[in-house]
Amino acid sequence: MADSKKNITGKLLGKQKETISEKLLGKAKEDPVKKLLYKPKNGFDRLSAADEKAMNAYCEDYKRFLDHGKTERLCVDYCVELAEKKGFRAYESGMKLKAGDKVYCNNRGKGIMLAVIGSESLAAGANIGTAHTDSPRLDLKPRTLYEEAEMAFFKTHHYGGIRKYQWVTIPLALHGVVTLADGGTVAVHIGEEDGEPQFIINDLLPHLGKEQGKKPLNEAIPSESLNILIGSRPYGGEDDKDRFKLGVLKLLNEKYGITEEDFISAELEAVPAGKARDTGFDRSFISAYGHDDRVCAYAELAGIFDAKKPKKTAVCIFADKEEIGSEGVSGMLSEAFEWFMGELCRAQGVELRECFAHSFCVSADVTAAYDPNFADVYDKKNAAFVNYGVGFCKYTGSGGKSGASDASAELVGKLRKLCNDNNVFWQMAELGKTDAGGGGTVAKYMAKRNIDTIDAGVPVLSMHAPRETVAKLDCYMTYRMMRAVFEQA
Ligand code: MN
Ligand code: MN
Repeated sequence: MADSKKNITGKLLGKQKETISEKLLGKAKEDPVKKLLYKPKNGFDRLSAADEKAMNAYCEDYKRFLDHGKTERLCVDYCVELAEKKGFRAYESGMKLKAGDKVYCNNRGKGIMLAVIGSESLAAGANIGTAHTDSPRLDLKPRTLYEEAEMAFFKTHHYGGIRKYQWVTIPLALHGVVTLADGGTVAVHIGEEDGEPQFIINDLLPHLGKEQGKKPLNEAIPSESLNILIGSRPYGGEDDKDRFKLGVLKLLNEKYGITEEDFISAELEAVPAGKARDTGFDRSFISAYGHDDRVCAYAELAGIFDAKKPKKTAVCIFADKEEIGSEGVSGMLSEAFEWFMGELCRAQGVELRECFAHSFCVSADVTAAYDPNFADVYDKKNAAFVNYGVGFCKYTGSGGKSGASDASAELVGKLRKLCNDNNVFWQMAELGKTDAGGGGTVAKYMAKRNIDTIDAGVPVLSMHAPRETVAKLDCYMTYRMMRAVFEQA
């Protein structure tokens, strides 16, 4: 059976003869000198059947996380739901905590921190995982609603680095909250469920796109043309003013109690509609909106849930606002983190700065996966490849490492050893060629707190696009790394 299978595979590839010589090579004894060389291996050549099964189960849960978490607020809601099922309790100031206790702190519904109290004192430091759950999207402007040519539109202001041409003519859903004149807040979610209407941004037809087509990619679709089509059914008679705006407002008022002024105190986000999907005949990829950085957040969440009796206190932080610079009260620069960690330290009579000085942090954020369609922007020897495992980024930044945290040799060595000891597949990753561009993460903000920090995360294809693609194997290995960090670092 095994032989005939091999023959068929050989026939498919037109390589029947090679099979025999390959067999011979496989039997040759390994040359000890060759061990001196570093040769990364594709994860599928090392993955056990048991791991493959666990990987597939993990990725089903991850897809569910993505489908529940289309915005940072929805991610927090779903994290709370999952955490409570795992025995985590909402932290309250002054709470007595002992080893093994599990708590979370909801930062204004937009960020969340979780901790499992270790058996060792926080004076010995914590093992920290950071990730961000905000993703690039289109926010509605405060004065968003207008009508033109007898159609109603929402004006948008994009959030994070997007390639604007990718956001036209794709189905959009709307999620968020609106605080009404009376101070009450209503949630809005529309466009994800079967049968619900969706929204769209128009693009020019090719027949009239001759001049537009000559423009550079980044200029063909200007920000101010990213206006979302939301209706065309008028309210009132032919002579009434604003009747297309009113047609939309009437519906919104009936459903949510919203008036036009309420948009001023709203956070409404237009995101690509639709669910995460297996991708490829072999289902080895997942395509979805928001892998950056929910793929690492979920790896940390599952890692802290599954960590067995951590010696050091394990902490997860899912920050908001990473895509726009980590500022703001829910961003990683906020002292909300000091508040939470300070509380945990106070319960043990430990100084926060003592804890930080001895802590270890993995800033888990995605990196670019090598894409042969755009080979010229990558340094192939230092790029991350799909299915080679979690990518360690010693440094991010741009040009001459500008803005990078640049983890020390010792720190890279620590994570490398931890992964090797736990059979976690990993690789080194640089975002691209030195002068091709660049990017950053929250690593530098953790390092600024006197916490040893290293970047590591899942390689992503089409990063920041409405649908990004990751390999399941890399998602699973990132979870395995985070679990090892929480259990053993
Ligand atoms: Mn990003
Ligand atoms: Mn990111």
